[in-house]
Amino acid sequence: MKIIRLGLYVVGIGLIAATMLFSLSTTVQDALLKRMVGAAFARTPEEPFDGLRVFMCGTSSPLPAPGRAQACVAVTAGENLYIVDAGARAPQTFNLAGMPLTNLRGIFLTHFHSDHIAAIGDFNLLSWVAGRPEPLEIIGPVGVDEVAAGFNQAYAQDSAYRTAHHGAALLPPHLSQLHPRAVEPGVVLERDGLVVTAFAVNHEPVSPAFGYRFDYRGRSLVISGDTVADDSLRQAAEGADLLLHDAISLPIVQALEAGAQAAGLDRQATIFADIQTYHAPVKDVYELAEQANVGKLALYHFVPPPRNALFRQIFRRNAPSGVVFTEDAMRLDLPTGSKEIKVH
Ligand SMILES: [Zn+2]
Ligand SMILES: [Zn+2]
Repeated sequence: MKIIRLGLYVVGIGLIAATMLFSLSTTVQDALLKRMVGAAFARTPEEPFDGLRVFMCGTSSPLPAPGRAQACVAVTAGENLYIVDAGARAPQTFNLAGMPLTNLRGIFLTHFHSDHIAAIGDFNLLSWVAGRPEPLEIIGPVGVDEVAAGFNQAYAQDSAYRTAHHGAALLPPHLSQLHPRAVEPGVVLERDGLVVTAFAVNHEPVSPAFGYRFDYRGRSLVISGDTVADDSLRQAAEGADLLLHDAISLPIVQALEAGAQAAGLDRQATIFADIQTYHAPVKDVYELAEQANVGKLALYHFVPPPRNALFRQIFRRNAPSGVVFTEDAMRLDLPTGSKEIKVH
């Protein structure tokens, strides 16, 4: 006991001494600051990677979840980076992971619910400031023009201030403008070996709503967007290496509905009842992935996002082995010339 107490005294005195040192010596502060800034700007060159690289920039849905941004999946193919959906807080996940926003070529929108579009303005601004050499394309179902025009209008004054401040050579005004492109189901992009195909999904009453399939040098990825597990999705996912699918846990949402009802919170109870029919219950997704012969299934856009070990366990009930429950900043690599998927 005495030894422990003595140890605590020594640690305490050490902490006080360290605090005094930092608070008294500006020389030490400046030296540490210089080291930290140097480390922050030090560039560790990305290892060359040939294949499809998936980065989870947001795995949540509208319900709040500490540590998770709303829906966002980043896909890198060669030099080109694309994002599927831009939910709130996703740019922070991106920046903290040091993803190269200069390479951002476009944002695919699955539909226009707020948890899929809220961060479009930030992604556009951050990539413009980072030096993106082309205007940012916003590709999505009919209605995307309205969304892009709204963001362009909302950010018009901010863009003008920044060009006035830093000069048009550094921040050309035309690169601050989002370029919308409304598309129909079918091939919507072909560039440097990457082919992106849009397909209709069932997120009624939200219509049209799309999922996207990425094919690149023999590897394939399907992103469901928000949908029930329906036939159009099964067809699009046929034989894909990786299926990223939204997922609802009915036991949890039904418990939330019953709890809200018991507490007299009728509005919340109605909302928990309504959302049960337009996302895919996990057991339906497991069946769909098997029927479609998908190489690997990964779940994201959790409804609700699991906030503790109990929720995580309930979400994982009856999950086949190998299913990935994604987290923010998770990376999944699909190297060309193999069937492998590396989860980081
Ligand atoms: Zn959503
Ligand atoms: Zn939605």
